[in-house]
Amino acid sequence: MTRDAPAPICAAGAILAVVDHVRSYGQLGIETGGFLYMARGSEIAGGVALTGIKGIVRRPGLFKISGEAIDELFSWAENADLFVPIQWHSHSIEAFLSCVDRNSGFSVDGFISVVLPFFKDPSADVSKWSWNIFQEGDWSPIEAPTVVDDAAQVVVFDEDGVRGA
Ligand SMILES: [Zn+2]
Repeated sequence: MTRDAPAPICAAGAILAVVDHVRSYGQLGIETGGFLYMARGSEIAGGVALTGIKGIVRRPGLFKISGEAIDELFSWAENADLFVPIQWHSHSIEAFLSCVDRNSGFSVDGFISVVLPFFKDPSADVSKWSWNIFQEGDWSPIEAPTVVDDAAQVVVFDEDGVRGA
């Protein structure tokens, strides 16, 4: 079932920052990921939180963020009155949520999980990514969001905290 675009509008600058980050790790043959965030009350997700080093596990076929690193990001966001509605990560080829993704993703109503396929050369066309929302106990595919020509704020987070990219 595909729902009508519940994903927030995304800033083009944010999409490009995600693609660059995914490509740089994809060229090494490994997955990576992060989050998109926005100011509370805003309609545009214009912030990208890239994953750093400490507490971040990246291997072929595996990407994990420690609970401590997640806590750093979400405390920072709360203090800055930011909302973090979208998680994204890369896959070598396939564009769908794996069993691990389904079970380890944020099972919070309305949360969105995105997979970028072909991590060596990821597309900046968000309709080529897999967009999924958690609702009523499961993940369902949703339509890709609209992208508007807007700059992004980019930060890096890990267990050492959140800092400018
Ligand atoms: Zn995955």
